Amino acid sequence: MTSIGIIGGSGLYTLDTMIGARTVDVPTPYGAPSGPLFTGRMAGREVVFLSRHGFGHRLLPGEVPYRANIFALRELGVRRVLAISAVGSLTQRLAPGTLVVPDQIVDRTKGVRPSTFFGDGVVGHVAMAEPFCQSLRQDLVKSAMDPAGADSPSPGVVDGGTYCCIEGPQFSTRAESRLYRSWGLDIIGMTAMPEAALAREAQLCYAGLALVTDYDCWHETAETVSVGLVAETMRANLATARTVLAATIAGLEVDADCSCHHALDAAVMTDPALIPPFLRRQMAF
Ligand SMILES: [Zn+2]
Repeated sequence: MTSIGIIGGSGLYTLDTMIGARTVDVPTPYGAPSGPLFTGRMAGREVVFLSRHGFGHRLLPGEVPYRANIFALRELGVRRVLAISAVGSLTQRLAPGTLVVPDQIVDRTKGVRPSTFFGDGVVGHVAMAEPFCQSLRQDLVKSAMDPAGADSPSPGVVDGGTYCCIEGPQFSTRAESRLYRSWGLDIIGMTAMPEAALAREAQLCYAGLALVTDYDCWHETAETVSVGLVAETMRANLATARTVLAATIAGLEVDADCSCHHALDAAVMTDPALIPPFLRRQMAF
């Protein structure tokens, strides 16, 4: 059993810094996760790693089995999830190469992704005012600012930002990109939702580390986003992301309680007598 889970996004398909890694297949009531989960040690801690897009990057953002992934992580004892992703920047100040620890999300997916563990006769509404775990965010920010214990913060880390989650798989049109900018959104990606919402329903702490790879398509002089550009910038910045991840994991208080672990305390509206026991166990109400 372990308490730290890592979800790797585009460009981060394995964790070569993991020691003694072995794969575990975890069946779930929501089908198979994106792929086998890797358990092992990193920065002196037991961790579980899952590649969001599966082996060989074969799952579209809209095809990722988000419910199965979150459920499988929890089945292995995970209480805290660090989610890595590649994002575009919607603002000049977040240049490619910047690491962002977002604090808000605007969901622009199209409602086709299963986005809740509730339903089938059980109604619940979790709070999403703060979509990321505040405590885990701060752990990430602190480690990202000072990954090697240096006195000066790394200039490439930004604390806070609003993540615009689009459906994809196409990148935005220029008009969309400009629209999101006019709304004051900071970064754009395709996977934070429903991942963050499901983690909250599963009562897991969840925080994201977003690697800016491009300026989407709004910028007048920078190259427009493409798969090649994303891959190239990811390759150049992956080492930093791994360092931040290891520093965060090393410093985590794994046994600490958090409000995320009680997200369902007052969330279920259905008469408890009408909730089937198996669902109660499955959802851990
Ligand atoms: Zn938390």
